[in-house]
Order: sequence, then structure tokens, then C-alpha cells
Amino acid sequence: MPSVATQTLSTERMISGPTSSATDGDVIWVPSKSIWTCSLTLIALVFGPATFGWDAFALFVVTTAVTICAGHSVGMHRLLIHRSFQTSKAVEYILVYLGTLVGMAGPFGMIHAHDIRDWAQRQHECHPLHAHRRWFLADAWWQMHCAVKLRQPPTFVIEKVVREDQFYQFIERTWMAQQLPWAALFFFVGGWSWLVWGIAVRVSVSLTGHWLIGHFAHRRGHQGWSVDNVAVQGYNLPAFGLVTFGEAFHGNHHAFPQSARLGLERGQIDLGWTLIQGLMVLGLAKEVKLPENTQPRDGLRRVAGEEAYVPRTCLQTCKGCPISAGRT
Ligand SMILES: [Zn+2]
Ligand SMILES: [Zn+2]
Repeated sequence: MPSVATQTLSTERMISGPTSSATDGDVIWVPSKSIWTCSLTLIALVFGPATFGWDAFALFVVTTAVTICAGHSVGMHRLLIHRSFQTSKAVEYILVYLGTLVGMAGPFGMIHAHDIRDWAQRQHECHPLHAHRRWFLADAWWQMHCAVKLRQPPTFVIEKVVREDQFYQFIERTWMAQQLPWAALFFFVGGWSWLVWGIAVRVSVSLTGHWLIGHFAHRRGHQGWSVDNVAVQGYNLPAFGLVTFGEAFHGNHHAFPQSARLGLERGQIDLGWTLIQGLMVLGLAKEVKLPENTQPRDGLRRVAGEEAYVPRTCLQTCKGCPISAGRT
């Protein structure tokens, strides 16, 4: 049954007022975020090498892949934040829970962090923190330990169906503690080595990786499209497409924010999209949004010199979609 949330675009949660400003604000240190990031990174750096084992490394790779791909990219970003496809409540909960295990924030915190940046980047000008404008290490400090306190922020309203959901309220309150049952399990099965690699190394690599991609994907790279009259452009980082499960095609995401598919052009492997296609085959994902069946963004331009974008095949048969129309 379609709900209010299915109609919500990420940008609609940030409501601009006449005095809203994306530039006027101060960067403040956020102790909880900073101490969390520092302690896990420190544990990973100090104890990671000493507790290395191939089994622990395999645990790190598998748990990172599952939490980043199914959790962060598909669950939190494409589903909860952008509603780029529909699924059952049970599947949605599993995917968003896996996203919480990345260790970045709870569902409401993730929605806010994403949407305030998205809103700011869509204005004519925005604060340098939201644009990733400072040099490498200064940006690392800002993004992983601080936040901007805007003096006149937009009004932030999460759709009722999400904000009043008791499961989301629970994992929002306990997102850091959600590591504990897994920490206990890993320690029980594989001792210190599994605990360090399955929790501290995984979370600190995920946090640092997320910042790195955000840093470069807003500064330079391949661009298939540009958007006029906005403060910040997004860029594709093809070298990182595979390990980010498609999230590194961030230029495409700026061009088509609602699209469930991020790797749009030839050679852009997008494993998050592959997972969504798998859910579609199982009947667990429907009403999938793609560039071909959503409204183009205002000011969207194909970058000069790029050949025309040719939509590829899709498993859906949406009414009015050019892909479906061309199918025999
Ligand atoms: Zn962006
Ligand atoms: Zn997004």
C-alpha cells in the first residue's frame, strides 16, 4: 500500500523559509561523533596489525560489503532517503538496520546528514563544509568530527510514517549500541582478532571511506551531466565504483537523485543496483525509479563532448517508460 513516505523526495524534508541561509553558520565540534570515530580508529590502528589473521580479514571484507552495499547504499541511501524503490516493511527494516551497523548514525541522523547537505548544495552558494571545499586533512576533521550550525537553517521534517515508526525510533536511540551484540558474537566465535576486525577496523574503514568518497566526489572527476545554478556539482569516481557498490558514481546521483541505479553509463558497475535487480526478480522491489521514468532536475545539462545517454535494459514495464516502449 503506498504511504506518505513513498511520495517524499529527499529535498522535500528541508523546507526553506524566507530567511534560510546555506552559508551563514559556524563549524562546531561534535563530541559524540568525534570520540566515536577517534576511539574506533585508534583501536583499529593499534590492535589491527597485532590481531591480523586471514579469517578475521575475511570477516572484515564480508561484513563491510554487506553493511555498505545492502545497508548503507541500498537501505539507507536509495530506499530510506530517496525512496527510489518500494519494498515490504520487513525488507526495509532489515536493509536500514544493516545501514545502521555501518556505524555512521541512526536512520534519522543519516536522513538529516544527507538532506541538509543536499539542500545546501542545491542553493546558489553554500557553506564550505557542505561543499567539501577545504584542503584534504582539514576537510577530514570537519566531516568526521564536526558539523555546521547554520544560523538560519531550513525547517527539517521527516515524514510521519518514518518519524513515528517505533523500530526506527529504537535504532536511532541505540545506533552505537547496535554494534554490541555483533561484537559479543564475533568475540565468542573468533576472539580478539574477530572483535577488532569485525567491529573497529570495519567501522573506521567505513567512516574514513565515506568521507574520502564525499571529499573527491564533490571536487573533481568524470561528469556525464552538470546542474546549472547550484553551489556544488557531483563527480563520478570510476576507480571506486566497485568498492563503493555504485555510490562513487556521485555525478550521476546529482543528475538523477531519485534513481535507484547509480552506475548509468557503459562500464559503470553498480553492485547496489545489482542487489535491487535481485530483489526485483524475487518480487521484493517494485516501482523502481530510474532516470528514464522520473522528472529531470531543473538545470540539468549533458556535459559537452559526452555522447548521448542511452538508457539500458530494465526489468520493469512501467507505463510511459521509453525502455518498456522499445521492448518487443
Ligand atoms: Zn553530493
Ligand atoms: Zn543522495
